[in-house]
Amino acid sequence: MRHIAIIGSGPAGYYTAEAAQKQWGDDVQVDVFDKLPVPYGLIRTGVAPDHQSIKSVARRYEKTALTDNVRFVGNVAIGIDLSIAELQELYDAVVMATGAPNDRQLGLDGEGLGNVFGSADFVGWYNGHPEFAQLSPDLSGKNAVVIGMGNVALDVARILAKTEAEFAGSDIVAHALDALKNSGLAKITILGRRGPHQIMMTPKELGELGNLERASPRVDRNDLPEEADDAILEPGIRKSVAHLRSFAAIPEDMHAEKAVEVEFDFFANPTAIVGDGKVASVTVEETQIENGKAVGTGTTYSIPADVVVACIGYRTSPIPGIPFDERAGRFANDAGRILTGLYCVGWARRGPSGTIGTNRPDGYALVEKIAEDIESGALGRVGKAGREGFDALAKERDLDIVTFQDWKKIEEAEAAAARDGSPREKFVDIEAMIKAGH
Ligand code: NAP
Repeated sequence: MRHIAIIGSGPAGYYTAEAAQKQWGDDVQVDVFDKLPVPYGLIRTGVAPDHQSIKSVARRYEKTALTDNVRFVGNVAIGIDLSIAELQELYDAVVMATGAPNDRQLGLDGEGLGNVFGSADFVGWYNGHPEFAQLSPDLSGKNAVVIGMGNVALDVARILAKTEAEFAGSDIVAHALDALKNSGLAKITILGRRGPHQIMMTPKELGELGNLERASPRVDRNDLPEEADDAILEPGIRKSVAHLRSFAAIPEDMHAEKAVEVEFDFFANPTAIVGDGKVASVTVEETQIENGKAVGTGTTYSIPADVVVACIGYRTSPIPGIPFDERAGRFANDAGRILTGLYCVGWARRGPSGTIGTNRPDGYALVEKIAEDIESGALGRVGKAGREGFDALAKERDLDIVTFQDWKKIEEAEAAAARDGSPREKFVDIEAMIKAGH
């Protein structure tokens, strides 16, 4: 029997568990750990609440989770309740599927001002992540600035722009819906330090911005390159740029019909966040693109900002003693191998890129590496104590484990508490989750 511990129950974790099961059938036992009492990581707390079709992939993970040889071990914080070294004593292979839960920093003056958030916190807030449920952003002002031109920036801008009715069918948590319902926002500026050809937004997601009830996307046609230049773009980005072109063609009277404007501000590199205690504006420097890089022109201007959300990428949490690539913000690894018997997968391996589906081949490729290491004897003799050993240690330490069956009870309670048309009202408090589970 092979014993594998996977730390993190998000997409990377469950695809790896699925791959291990395919690889070894009944000859493997996989324990999937999560520090939260609930599974699915980014599916639950990262994917936008109005993107339920993306969240439905959780059904596939549930199928894996419900098999005998895969087990969910919730409410166990590796690094606090037990160490990586202890896990390595117990399992033949330990896989870090911990994602990239921390915001990259802008490194700007004023970043610490009130009402300035990183997207990890802000997205966690509207998605009911227990660590960020108390964030309380003040949305009473008129102007929001969203920094970055990736899909997370799009998610944040769209969520800020939507009406209450547009959240029908979503699982946005009640505290966020209340705050958004009462928001005073009239303008959301999306800041890109580079140009339309360098956006990281995918076409389907960008297209949604053109169909909002009370918000209208505004693109300055002077920022767009010649249309013929789009031919060099990769097809996905070309489609996204076509959306920008259609936004640029929206006539003024149509903008005027909408209460909220979502403005794309290209070639605008934020250089400072300004305010007295609380943010009041963002200073940006105009840029031009040289060899694909944004180079400042020396011209600066100021954008009013009552709330700022920086959506500029994420970093994995380092763990003392485990090699870490500081520059890339993920574990230092060679195709998923960190140290003997210690692996990483998903964002913890490759950094925060790709879609949920990208984690599937990632998980399968990692299991091949683990299989190679077992075959070659690199891991020594396999067949450590595995879950029995862990259970003994958990008992000794009096850990309050949440099982998958407990999670199903939490899930039922969340479904029962849902407002009309919504799939669930999430618990945002860890104790409440545990209580519902037990
Ligand atoms: P991302 O796609 O890497 O975009 C980050 C953006 O931040 C880029 O526009 C980048 O500009 C900008 N940026 C970085 N540092 C900056 C700085 N110091 N100042 C100003 N701008 C800065 O990251 P993401 O949006 O966080 O998304 C992470 C991953 O999740 C992506 O693969 C994304 O597609 C995926 N995702 C997918 C969905 C979906 O499919 N629905 C939803 C959300 C997220 P430069 O290009 O100039 O560096």
